[in-house]
Amino acid sequence: MASETEVIGWAARDTSGHMAPIIFSRRALGPRDVKFFIKFCGVCHSDWTVITGEVYTPTFPVVPGHEIVGVVEEVGSEVTKFKVGDHAGVSTYVNSCGSCRVCERKLPQHCKDVVWVYDSVNPADGLRTYGGYSNLMVVDESFCLVLPKNLPLDGAAPLLCAGATVWSPMKRYGMGKNGDRFGVVGLGGLGHIALKFAKALGMHATTESLEFVVPTGT
Ligand SMILES: [Zn+2]
Ligand SMILES: [Zn+2]
Repeated sequence: MASETEVIGWAARDTSGHMAPIIFSRRALGPRDVKFFIKFCGVCHSDWTVITGEVYTPTFPVVPGHEIVGVVEEVGSEVTKFKVGDHAGVSTYVNSCGSCRVCERKLPQHCKDVVWVYDSVNPADGLRTYGGYSNLMVVDESFCLVLPKNLPLDGAAPLLCAGATVWSPMKRYGMGKNGDRFGVVGLGGLGHIALKFAKALGMHATTESLEFVVPTGT
């Protein structure tokens, strides 16, 4: 019988912003689970706002990270999307109710019972969730993306939050047709990916960004 796996991560234990090593457990591999070694995890500003308590007070310790990519080590007996050696990615959530209106429309991120990838408790195993600033992930294959092997893993990681955030409205509003022009105000983590998408979709892409002048002193 499979047993829980010991995982090493980096955790915040208070709102100071300091991180320190932590050892915790991921659940034993279930029939629909994928286990993968984490190779890269993006650093998103949301991670910072959670661990510093800017938006709400989390339950510490918190292992952040929600742009998680890696290589599949083991799959459960009922897994159909993955095999050992495949590249896998996990974003901001790892479970949902599976039966409400938005889950049926394959939009589990809007489910009222969504389970976040960290600082949640997953009813599937009763364990607290810990994110991608760690070395190994165990997740239901429904919440794991197959990444093409020709996509470099380090470049793929930011697509899982920053990329999805800008891709979603671009897709929803059908951008990239009829010679659309595209502008980004503020060339940051999201904006630079949006520009790349716009260019790939054949749009005329422009950005406008403020320049900050840092005094150098004398
Ligand atoms: Zn639901
Ligand atoms: Zn994010």
